[in-house]
Amino acid sequence: MAGLEDLYREIILDHYRSPRNRGELPSPPAQRVEGFNPLCGDEVILFVDVRDATVADIRFSGQGCSISQSSTSMMTSAVKGRTLPEARALIRRFKGLMSIHEQALGGDGDDGYDVDDDGAESASGTDEPEVKLGDLEALQGVVKFPVRIKCATLSWNTLTQALEEAET
Ligand code: ZN
Repeated sequence: MAGLEDLYREIILDHYRSPRNRGELPSPPAQRVEGFNPLCGDEVILFVDVRDATVADIRFSGQGCSISQSSTSMMTSAVKGRTLPEARALIRRFKGLMSIHEQALGGDGDDGYDVDDDGAESASGTDEPEVKLGDLEALQGVVKFPVRIKCATLSWNTLTQALEEAET
């Protein structure tokens, strides 16, 4: 299992050192939304260009700890080019990853991570697009440190806000 943790650490460090989609987009037309995590001092500024109900482009700036910055980098890679329903499905899955582990603290170590949302969110799972978290699963180790969960979810909450604003 140490091998898996090493791999996860490597993915996180890679995104921290070589962030994807870092920069800015002209706003408007892009939505510019700022997020802040006072617990850690993390700051993220998202630029989200929504066109034809698709995340046509996304960039970010800001600064913070390695978890917040790598999570933002991974998030932008994951949602870029996605339709809005797919982007929302990713948000839900990622937040599920964070909260499932929050409940199951102490009981991890196995990689059997196919917990099909154990009914908690099944009501809305009817016509939700199939999405894979991919590299984002590297962040699941964060939930062992509850204070860092906000670092990991900061950019996702900021994205949620940007998508809402893009639709109004
Ligand atoms: Zn942080």
